[in-house]
Amino acid sequence: MKIFGLSFAFYLYILIHFLALVCAILLPFHKLYLLIFIVNYFFGMFFITGGYHRYFSHRSYKLGRIPQFIMAWMAESSAQKGVLWWAANHRDHHLYSDTDKDLHSPVKRGFWYAHMGWIFDPASQSYDPKKIADFGKFPELVFLDKYYWIPTSIYALIMFFLGFIWGSLHHENAYLSAFGFLTWGYLLVLIAQYQASYCINSLAHVYGTRRFPTNDQSRNNWWLALITLGEGWHNNHHFCKSSCRQGYKWWEIDFTFYLLTLLSWIGIVKEIRPFRTENNRGAVVDSQVVEK
Ligand SMILES: [Zn+2]
Ligand SMILES: [Zn+2]
Repeated sequence: MKIFGLSFAFYLYILIHFLALVCAILLPFHKLYLLIFIVNYFFGMFFITGGYHRYFSHRSYKLGRIPQFIMAWMAESSAQKGVLWWAANHRDHHLYSDTDKDLHSPVKRGFWYAHMGWIFDPASQSYDPKKIADFGKFPELVFLDKYYWIPTSIYALIMFFLGFIWGSLHHENAYLSAFGFLTWGYLLVLIAQYQASYCINSLAHVYGTRRFPTNDQSRNNWWLALITLGEGWHNNHHFCKSSCRQGYKWWEIDFTFYLLTLLSWIGIVKEIRPFRTENNRGAVVDSQVVEK
């Protein structure tokens, strides 16, 4: 959907930031809002990393058709557009990492373009369906990809109504509580998740350490891993993108992997793909040698 030549996502993005700023300044603060912010941030982050990234982009584990739909719905609640758009563009990132064809390389196109500028570049608005044909064959995913604003709008409405009910039960102004929940449980959560996700595209290709000498500038960064539930182990990930686990050493905390492992114990997640350090010919490569 285009309005005055700009995508609906662009207007949604501007609106989220404007509303968050106005509401956060004007509304009375409540300690409960901070708790809701933290819970919703990490809950939603799991679906960004476990859904958009490790499932739809890399197929690092398997899901049945209904859990797959739920994963797509929950991922899109974070308003990072359709799962097919997200995954197709991310597959391109791995194909062309830090080359001229990379959509968001801080090395080639500057930090701010890699961080968020690329999202509004007309060249980034579409994707080649052939690159995501494995998921594009499911009509329900094509629908969710096209109408990506539905899950996030419903998430916003849920927060609004929860706030309204909470305010009514606690004899407070129900509308003020509703907008408080909407601001802290939705708008600010989305903004924080945007910035954390963007950091993987920008900072994780600039700051941190490199265990594997991959053909790009990907880095491992522990604090990025903590705020993104494991995505900060980006050099490990570029080395073995099919692996569900991105923390390679035991101390490289990767909450997304831990949660997916828990879900595999109750049968929802299947066939978690391991971290492979051997090349296609079966030869083991150590941490200093990478297949060329
Ligand atoms: Zn990368
Ligand atoms: Zn990836």
